[in-house]
Amino acid sequence: MWFRRDLRVNDLPALTAAVAAGKTVPCFVFDERLLTGYRFVSPARVSFMLGCLSELRGSLRNLGADLFIRIGLPEVVLPELAKETGATSVHWTEDASPWANRRDQRVSAALVADGFVAHPHPGSYIVADPGEIVSGKGTPYTVYSPFFKAWKEVPRRPLEDPPSQVRCPNGLDPGTMPTMEELGFDQGTDTGLTSFEPGETAAREATHAYLNEGLTAYADTRNSPTGGSSRLSPYIRWGCLSPLELETKLGLRDGRGPAVFRKELAWREFYASVLLNFPEVMSTEFQERYRGTLDWHEDAKLLDAWKLGRTGYPLVDAGMRELLEDGWMHNRVRMVVASFLTKDLHIDWREGERWFMERLIDGDVASNNGGWQWVTSVGTDPAPYFQRMFNPMTQQERFDPEGEYVRRWIPELRSVPDGHLVRPWLMSEDEQAATGCRIGVDYPEPVVDHAEERRIAVERYRAAVGGTDSPDDEASAQQS
Ligand SMILES: Cc1cc2nc3c(=O)[nH]c(=O)nc-3n(C[C@H](O)[C@H](O)[C@H](O)COP(=O)(O)OP(=O)(O)OC[C@H]3O[C@@H](n4cnc5c(N)ncnc54)[C@H](O)[C@@H]3O)c2cc1C
Repeated sequence: MWFRRDLRVNDLPALTAAVAAGKTVPCFVFDERLLTGYRFVSPARVSFMLGCLSELRGSLRNLGADLFIRIGLPEVVLPELAKETGATSVHWTEDASPWANRRDQRVSAALVADGFVAHPHPGSYIVADPGEIVSGKGTPYTVYSPFFKAWKEVPRRPLEDPPSQVRCPNGLDPGTMPTMEELGFDQGTDTGLTSFEPGETAAREATHAYLNEGLTAYADTRNSPTGGSSRLSPYIRWGCLSPLELETKLGLRDGRGPAVFRKELAWREFYASVLLNFPEVMSTEFQERYRGTLDWHEDAKLLDAWKLGRTGYPLVDAGMRELLEDGWMHNRVRMVVASFLTKDLHIDWREGERWFMERLIDGDVASNNGGWQWVTSVGTDPAPYFQRMFNPMTQQERFDPEGEYVRRWIPELRSVPDGHLVRPWLMSEDEQAATGCRIGVDYPEPVVDHAEERRIAVERYRAAVGGTDSPDDEASAQQS
């Protein structure tokens, strides 16, 4: 049983199949290419993963086995381990990323060449294969709503019980869990300490608590950055939680909360389907008309101000500091900061995609790429660009009216009164002195003027599409 991003023992078809086949060697292979040589290297995510792996090892030991740790290339390590243990088949859970798929093909080929059976299983998604959901014409969906309609009708597999026992061969070296330094990260690498506790036990506890306490109000509260959403994404990302088990538990509950929550889970499956069918989105815009036609600005200073949460716009800065300090960010704020990067600073969405992947412990190539392309108006589920221009000030007024979120993440603004929290730069000098927050000294002045940059963004996008979409000023003013 080759674990990858399915770090659990509950409802895991690959584990069930491996255990049913006889003695089992649960293993995890640290692949150097993914750790430090990959496009989206993330010490924060690796550190979280190490926590999940330690917990999984404990669970497997309680079941009578172990988690056998190896370091190297899976296409070399796995056939060797299979030979060493006399295995006949190797089981794993399928993934949506093009990189993972290429690796799995190499692993399969190496195993088959040595006479072993290579056996991928579902388990990462609610449906067995989101990429196979196609329209009546046989083409993949590129708009979310019809995808959702088709997705919810796809029959679900039965849930798998966790094994009551895992028998493994005697005398096999379990290997030691490596440290961050042993994995090639510099000593003292900032791993982005996070308030999320890693592992399946924490995932199940968080799920239980959310289903019983937060879910009923989800439809109304999910947009509040200080609460309301489940914060289960790191666990879903690492497979500490089976999304199918989660959906099954929702099905037992009535009301709008569970229904809306299920729709959000389906966004994850939609973006997996997009990536499986259009892997080119990893390097280019889904919409051809935006490929190479948008004039992106290069400005290292502005990019840094955005990354460090020093743009002078409190909601943007609070989100970016949450990301920096906690390795996570609320969805509403992800949309606001992504719009700010691409439509206020006019910086290429790929810069934002990369920074999110570096910092997010739930960083997932499919959902992250999908989210960035959606906000930038260049991806699937299209809408005219001017409908996805978020005004950071009105968004703060709507979604953080008491300033709880902004004050939590920006200590300099804690004593700024409510009336000035959205536009602190409008405080008089006396007010700045009284609150201990000097604009330009303690907290930055706005790095750009939103209204002006919005106008420029409209021009840039209009130029890219040759003037075909154009904002109806009334409607778009309301949006932004
Ligand atoms: C620019 C951008 C980048 C993003 N990058 C990622 C990423 O790397 N990894 C990631 O898991 N999500 C990503 N998202 C989606 C979303 O922001 C997070 O899934 C959500 O904030 C996680 O918080 P939660 O668990 O409290 O969500 P809830 O609101 O409680 O939703 C439950 C679950 O549904 C899924 N989900 C919800 N919304 C989305 C969505 N829009 N797209 C995909 N899945 C969704 C997640 O698995 C989430 O845990 C991104 C969104 C944007 C706008």
